[in-house]
Amino acid sequence: MNLLIHNATIFTNDDDNTILQDVSLVIEGNRIIEVGPRLELVERYRDYRRINAAGKLVMPGLINTHNHFYSTFARGLSLPVTPRNFHEILKFLWWKLDKALDLEAVYYSALVMALGAVKGGVTAVIDHHASPNAVEGSLDQIEEALSLVGLRGILCYEISDRDGIEVRKEGLLENERFARKCELERQEDPDYPFDAMVGLHASFTLEDETLELAAELSNTLGKGCHIHLLEDQVDQRITREKYEYGVVARLLKFGILGEKSLTAHGIYLNEQGMGILADTGTMLAHNPRSNMNNAVGRADIFAMLDQGILVGLGSDGMSGSITPDILTAYLLHKHDLKNPNVGWSEIEELALKNNPEIFLRISGQKVGKIIPGYLADVIIVDYYPPTPMTSENFWGHVLFGILEAPVDTSIINGRLVMENKIFPDIDEEEIAAEAHMVAQEVWRRFYENS
Ligand SMILES: [Zn+2]
Repeated sequence: MNLLIHNATIFTNDDDNTILQDVSLVIEGNRIIEVGPRLELVERYRDYRRINAAGKLVMPGLINTHNHFYSTFARGLSLPVTPRNFHEILKFLWWKLDKALDLEAVYYSALVMALGAVKGGVTAVIDHHASPNAVEGSLDQIEEALSLVGLRGILCYEISDRDGIEVRKEGLLENERFARKCELERQEDPDYPFDAMVGLHASFTLEDETLELAAELSNTLGKGCHIHLLEDQVDQRITREKYEYGVVARLLKFGILGEKSLTAHGIYLNEQGMGILADTGTMLAHNPRSNMNNAVGRADIFAMLDQGILVGLGSDGMSGSITPDILTAYLLHKHDLKNPNVGWSEIEELALKNNPEIFLRISGQKVGKIIPGYLADVIIVDYYPPTPMTSENFWGHVLFGILEAPVDTSIINGRLVMENKIFPDIDEEEIAAEAHMVAQEVWRRFYENS
């Protein structure tokens, strides 16, 4: 479908943060082809399906660089044992919930969270999935759910040794199978909206041999690894005890790091570790809301950026939407450092500039800017600036207005995914009812194994 969005105020997110008033935006197929004077383009593209932005803000869709769709059914789940620390949160919640998922639960957990992501203005997600009792085909289930909603995604299966050698093998195979499938699709359609990485849990649940196999797979496929890194001290402690290595040095030794690899968290990274990430070009997703929820500490993103690490922002399964993480990132660092002057430009860099850069580096897809030639991932937000809005102060409007303004319309890969807050092809109530039934079964299995 060809679209013409007219009567728009556009934040382009180009290098100059250009804002254009009273313009039209033309989308042909899945690409942005022209941005220009409203009436001129309306005249020239008469036959295109028109969307009247009514003067609202049109901006690139947001990108979430670290998520876990499978966390959906944790919502409202009460735990029989109260975890006292991060390792216990993993053992009593996540490592039991993931085992309770079957393929249907994987599908519905992704579907529910994908709808939330789009409502929050997210148009592309990098996900990290685990379902040890339903590994094979699990990434297809997520792809199917995201396709129904219309969300763009980079998916991987979280390999770990915590469930034994068979599940590890299945995890390796699932990553390989899905990556090869995406590769075939890309040969047909270079803009195919899915891509793959090699997923790994974290150093402390991965044996040396597993790291070797994952690195080998990553090289064979030409895909980077996606792994949790020093989210808590337990990662460093167990890695040192069992493998007599520091976490970063160990990942370096086995070839897990590199320009296409993405780490998450890095809270206990020291200067030397940051240097290794910077030297290898390894990226990092900062997840402030999850870090606060788990009470694991604050990542020093300022030192990371100073060292030249490409740092992005993720939700880590707290929700599909990333707007709460943007605000949390902005507040956390100020609060923790007791300094009201930190984090302003850095958080802007993470959310608006680095997230699209990370997505581009992994998938080769140009998203996150409203520039001719870019993929058409665009949102219309219910925002009329009540004070002057310029390229210089746009970030202030984001933090104190746009983040809480409802997203009205979402276009992803040129497809009108949500219009006037409605998903045209989706019955949300029915999906919630189905998910509710599936959740009851997931919870039953969860309690049986608790
Ligand atoms: Zn995570």
